[in-house]
Amino acid sequence: MTLSSSQREALLALDVGRVRLDEPMRKHTSFRIGGPVDAYVEVASVDAIERLFAWCRAEGLPLLSVGGGCNLLVRDGGIRGIVMRLGRPFRRLFVVREGEGADNPESGDEVVADAVSRFDASQQAAEAGAVQVAGPSGSLAEDDGRVLVHVDAGVAVPALLKFCVRRGLSGAEGLAGVPGTVGGSLVMNAGTHEGELCSVVHTMSVVTEAGDLKTYRQEDLSYRYRHLDLPAGEFIVCCVLALTPAPPADIQRAITDLIDYRKSTQPVRIPSAGCVFKNPPVGPPAGKLIDDAGLKGTRVRGALVSDVHANYVVNTGDATARDVIELMARVRDEVERRWGVVLENEVRVVGEASLPQMHVDRT
Ligand SMILES: Cc1cc2nc3c(=O)[nH]c(=O)nc-3n(C[C@H](O)[C@H](O)[C@H](O)COP(=O)(O)OP(=O)(O)OC[C@H]3O[C@@H](n4cnc5c(N)ncnc54)[C@H](O)[C@@H]3O)c2cc1C
Repeated sequence: MTLSSSQREALLALDVGRVRLDEPMRKHTSFRIGGPVDAYVEVASVDAIERLFAWCRAEGLPLLSVGGGCNLLVRDGGIRGIVMRLGRPFRRLFVVREGEGADNPESGDEVVADAVSRFDASQQAAEAGAVQVAGPSGSLAEDDGRVLVHVDAGVAVPALLKFCVRRGLSGAEGLAGVPGTVGGSLVMNAGTHEGELCSVVHTMSVVTEAGDLKTYRQEDLSYRYRHLDLPAGEFIVCCVLALTPAPPADIQRAITDLIDYRKSTQPVRIPSAGCVFKNPPVGPPAGKLIDDAGLKGTRVRGALVSDVHANYVVNTGDATARDVIELMARVRDEVERRWGVVLENEVRVVGEASLPQMHVDRT
């Protein structure tokens, strides 16, 4: 359903953050592909998210949450309704509780108390009885020796890694070279052969479709390779990671090694969404299946199967979503024909194939 002009006015008056109308999604995806969304909203607070959810519900408008758009293929007709992304206030990153024996000047109960007072999402959840938040006794959990770090879902993955190096915290290095936000990376359980994000989550806080704040503990999360079971309509606002103290030089080395490896094996400088297919649960990885089927260099107009890494489809400049989808279908069919393996999408495809008539009339 397209936003009417009165809904557009009402949305602007809602005061939930920055609103851009008829915003081309290609500006917000690493593929640099995607038609316009009716309204792209950068929400400024948990309260704004709750109000936006309530308004969309009342108006019967669809709402899609996005992070950095690094795993998204938006179809050429764009997205009807609202796309919501976390705005600047959701980029906080701080230690909630130091590990025992950690040599850190910021450790201590004052830090815990201060961190908790800034941690509005967890605070509200705690008040609602949904989760136990660290109090002066540091009662967050039984994570002896581990350091608990609050990470807003809008934090960029590289910023998280930089923080980990500076503070000497190990556990997230497997995300080196993964672009996007922590929120999107939780949804995708992003990572590499060196580790994935969900395994170091201590708690994760979401706003539910009904507008309630809810916090999951690690043991409540159900995740697997590139997938987290997240009930429909839940929007991740922050998490607490449990990390292990380690020498900063060791963490930096692990990150640099992984990034160097990626630069030599992946087309990191051309617009893409990373690997487009998941690796099958058994047997060779998707990239090898595609390469061995002779598909490197296959092209549909501006979309190309990378010569560097066969599981990357790259946008050589003027690719449309239609080109990418057609190319992916060709690759999937040929891999199935040659190897009997049906590849599953890793990239999330959203939006409409063509613009609605109403939209065309207006422009
Ligand atoms: C060059 C390149 C290399 C890559 N390498 C890797 C890699 O090695 N490993 C890997 O795992 N991935 C990789 N990716 C894919 C991508 O970086 C990850 O999937 C990343 O985690 C996506 O984060 P994002 O913030 O961009 O999420 P988006 O692409 O914006 O969204 C991903 C999904 O999460 C949902 N979502 C986003 N934010 C929220 C939120 N706050 N609450 C609820 N739902 C939300 C979206 O609706 C969507 O379904 C690569 C991508 C590129 C471009």
